[in-house]
Formats: sequence, structure tokens, C-alpha cells
Amino acid sequence: MAKGDSCKQEPGVFAPMIDRAACEGKADCVVICPYEVFELGIVPQEDRSGLGMLARVRGFVHGWKQAYAVNAEACRACGLCVQSCPEKAITLARRQ
Ligand code: SF4
Ligand code: SF4
Repeated sequence: MAKGDSCKQEPGVFAPMIDRAACEGKADCVVICPYEVFELGIVPQEDRSGLGMLARVRGFVHGWKQAYAVNAEACRACGLCVQSCPEKAITLARRQ
């Protein structure tokens, strides 16, 4: 069985939400998602100030790299990204 074969939902029903205070940008989710939902990006300056001190230190140490769900509408809610994230930074949320 290819990865992603167990996906139950049609695309566009659920989308992954990424906790900006927890993501460390190591890209496990980017690699494992069968539908190429994620890309690594740099957290914009305006999104950094709302984070707590620990998250800001962590962001600085990791060059502010984090995962972004750039192709969220392709998500089929298989849950592989949730399981793979070592920081427990991903949850799946219904889109509407
Ligand atoms: S697996 Fe988790 S910590 Fe790693 S980049 Fe994805 S969301 Fe961030
Ligand atoms: S649940 Fe995660 S791994 Fe599965 S399709 Fe959606 S974004 Fe990709």
C-alpha cells in the first residue's frame, strides 16, 4: 500500500494547522505528506513578535524556518503529518 492510501477524506475538508510556537522546521511533515501540502518557509517579521520568549529563541536558533501548508486544499486528512511531527505542532481542522 502506497503512503496516503489510507486517506479517508475528500481534499479540501480538513487542513493542517501549524503551531508557530512549536514548529522547529525540521521538515518531517514536508517529507511524509503524500500530497505535497507543506513547504518550509521563513516566519515573517510581523508574526514573530506575538510569540513567547522561548519560541522566539527557538525560532532564532533555527533561522526562523517553519513549515507552511501552502497546498492545504490538497489535504486528505490521513494524519501522517500529525504523527510524524516531533514537536506535536500539527493539528487537523475542518475548513468550514
Ligand atoms: S514536522 Fe512539525 S516541527 Fe517539523 S516542520 Fe513540520 S510542523 Fe514543524
Ligand atoms: S493529514 Fe497531513 S500528511 Fe495527510 S494529506 Fe493532510 S497535510 Fe498531508
